[in-house]
Amino acid sequence: MTGPVAERKLLFEQGAPGRVGYLPPECDVPELPIDELIPEHALREEQPPLPELSELEVVRHFTRLSRINHAIDVGFYPLGSCTMKYNPKMNEAAAGMAGFARIHPYQPDETVQGALELMYELEKALCEIAGLDRASLQPAAGAQGELTGLMIIRAYHESRGEGHRNEIICPDSAHGTNPASAAMCGYKLIQVPSDARGGMDVEALRAVVGPNTAGLMLTNPNTLGLFDENIAEITEIVRTAGGLLYYDGANANAILGISRPGDMGFDIVHFNLHKTFSTPHGGGGPGAGPVCVRKELAPFLPAPTVERGENGFYLDYDRPQAVGRLHAFYGNFGVLVRAYAYIRHLGAEGLRRVSEHAVLHANYLMHLLKPYYDLPYDRHCKHEFVLSGARQKRLGVRTLDIAKRLLDYGIHAPTVYFPLIVDEAIMIEPTETEPKAVLDEFARVMIEIAREAEENPEVVQGAPHRTVVGRLDEARAAREPDVCWRPPET
Ligand SMILES: *Cc1c(COP(=O)(O)O)cnc(C)c1O
Repeated sequence: MTGPVAERKLLFEQGAPGRVGYLPPECDVPELPIDELIPEHALREEQPPLPELSELEVVRHFTRLSRINHAIDVGFYPLGSCTMKYNPKMNEAAAGMAGFARIHPYQPDETVQGALELMYELEKALCEIAGLDRASLQPAAGAQGELTGLMIIRAYHESRGEGHRNEIICPDSAHGTNPASAAMCGYKLIQVPSDARGGMDVEALRAVVGPNTAGLMLTNPNTLGLFDENIAEITEIVRTAGGLLYYDGANANAILGISRPGDMGFDIVHFNLHKTFSTPHGGGGPGAGPVCVRKELAPFLPAPTVERGENGFYLDYDRPQAVGRLHAFYGNFGVLVRAYAYIRHLGAEGLRRVSEHAVLHANYLMHLLKPYYDLPYDRHCKHEFVLSGARQKRLGVRTLDIAKRLLDYGIHAPTVYFPLIVDEAIMIEPTETEPKAVLDEFARVMIEIAREAEENPEVVQGAPHRTVVGRLDEARAAREPDVCWRPPET
């Protein structure tokens, strides 16, 4: 590890024996002997080696950590494929309301009518956006939504005596979770190449469908940010072969209120509420990956579903064909509240404007940057676009170096080296929430880095220079993260 202030000691090794940050009141109940409360074999013999700190030290520690981290609330975060938009604080306030945050999952239905109504209405809103009929809000992430959808595909084919269908088709631009979910569900993966325009090669698809096709997984616009113009033909080919159509809607930021997967011919869709519908998700969670389906597939949705009866809303566990349970209780409820608040706040018109602005911003940036970076698929993009750092690579500057150099300018790096079909890929998704001045500043910095790559490549190759921690060993940082305080060796 290099960098100006990489001193671990300064960051973590604080406090002194005997220092405390609390002052409990006098005990006003009779004290019982400890061995009456805890069985002897479970009693500690020594004090645990915990850090001892004053309140001020604790406050400073966490405030300092938060300030050396990048966050959407601090700066631009153009992370392609993974909408990192501003998450309105109103949604946090809604999710924190006692009536939502303090209820217990085992409460009787009649005492949580508001929470059930929220889930019922959110399901309806998501189905409207998807162009489908019913949904489960249970899955906790996009990848888990995919697994749920694939389990539904399997259950559907089995229910029709076609359990032999064991192949899932994905394009070579697919998000990595698609093939992973298919494999996890026991499917054989069939990969279809992209054509010269970045869409799915229709003839190659025609050649691989057949009696073993269980389904196709596709995201449209795809991870290149391109809308597949042949989508109706693609879904028809798979349907005619007896397969189902799965739409990966993890990132739906380009289509809200404009085009609906159900209308494109898809049967199953998952959304990532933590991407498109505004739950903060840096650092890995919690999330929600609801799955919407056509009515014919509704019996296979996980139990319970939320239903409306004569006496109000209730949870229906009586679902004999359900694929089972994917998550404890009803999923990550707080994320559902945020998504509901977001959707209701914007309304249908507002959601459409989200996508219009997301697409406009991406095209604007793409046009500013394309004289300076290679653009392998030069056509209108949707919510994101993919540059190639091939030109800079010939100067000895890799895409990784460019990503690191951006950090010196206070900008989070975009997704790099994905999708795999673009050499030295730089995948940029500006989102709808950034002002034009921020987009212009990002373009200025990217152009400046392109100039540096020509005139002063060392400064890019050695970046970042201005962050608290310099360039890390990426593999070790991911596999052996060192983020815990440990007691000093005694
Ligand atoms: C993010 C993403 C996923 C995976 O979602 P998780 O919630 O991270 O599991 C799947 N597909 C696409 C296209 C994505 O952008």
